[in-house]
Amino acid sequence: MTAARLSDTTTAAPTTRGVPYIEVENVSKSFGNHQVLKNVSTQFYAGEVSVIIGASGSGKSTLLRAINRLEPHDSGSIRIAGVPVTDDPATLQQQRCEVGMVFQQFNLFGHMSVLDNVALAPRRLRHLKRPEANALALELLARVGMQAHAHKYPWQLSGGQQQRVAIARALAMAPKVMLFDEPTSALDPEMVQEVLDVMRGLARGGMTMIVVTHEMGFAREVADRVLFFDQGRIVHDAPPAEFFKHPPNERIRAFIGRLG
Ligand code: ADP
Ligand code: MG
Repeated sequence: MTAARLSDTTTAAPTTRGVPYIEVENVSKSFGNHQVLKNVSTQFYAGEVSVIIGASGSGKSTLLRAINRLEPHDSGSIRIAGVPVTDDPATLQQQRCEVGMVFQQFNLFGHMSVLDNVALAPRRLRHLKRPEANALALELLARVGMQAHAHKYPWQLSGGQQQRVAIARALAMAPKVMLFDEPTSALDPEMVQEVLDVMRGLARGGMTMIVVTHEMGFAREVADRVLFFDQGRIVHDAPPAEFFKHPPNERIRAFIGRLG
């Protein structure tokens, strides 16, 4: 064990770090002449919950979208379980099964029941027969407290309920890691906790999670580490106790202060 690894285990997660599950190395990305990611390097380890915070426009969503190849990066490399993220269709399909994503806007299929929203991917991509896919969907809906709503349509649900269904739908692929991009930002305040509760449950179950959020209570309580994005760079990365107690500069201190 190297000195660096030893210090990791003393300062960070209460998890065994082992091999990183996602490796981001010198990743850059521009839109036109606006460089949105600037040589970003970091690793995400299996079983860890990483929370990403930072001002609007700092590149948080672009990093998540690059990990899922919703947005190709210009240079550098992203590897998932050692396999580079590229446009190769077979690899990409495999990786998209391993990496679940939940968006701010829940993006449920409006013309399908809750059950069908969750059962669709297991049928199409995991080739389960309808009864098996439905059984799996009901089990996942129970996990997010939505089993009783299985036969409703998205428009009949509150925002918090729709987001819980979206989480069940992502879980239906049996992903190894879940990416959350501001999953509670579009919700009325009274619905935020029910979604965070589902995410807490996933974290307790050992799910590897990367969560962009401004919910600092969640970060303090659930995260193994907090990363701070500033203008396309990760400028701070620390376990939450240290992150919140000793912000390294005034800019980060002020940002945390505003979030409360
Ligand atoms: P964050 O999630 O931290 O708010 P984003 O990663 O969404 O930031 O965006 C970073 C910057 O990239 C912003 O200035 C945004 O306007 C720009 N951007 C994001 N996506 C696109 C796109 N598809 N085309 C052009 N500019 C984009
Ligand atoms: Mg964003």
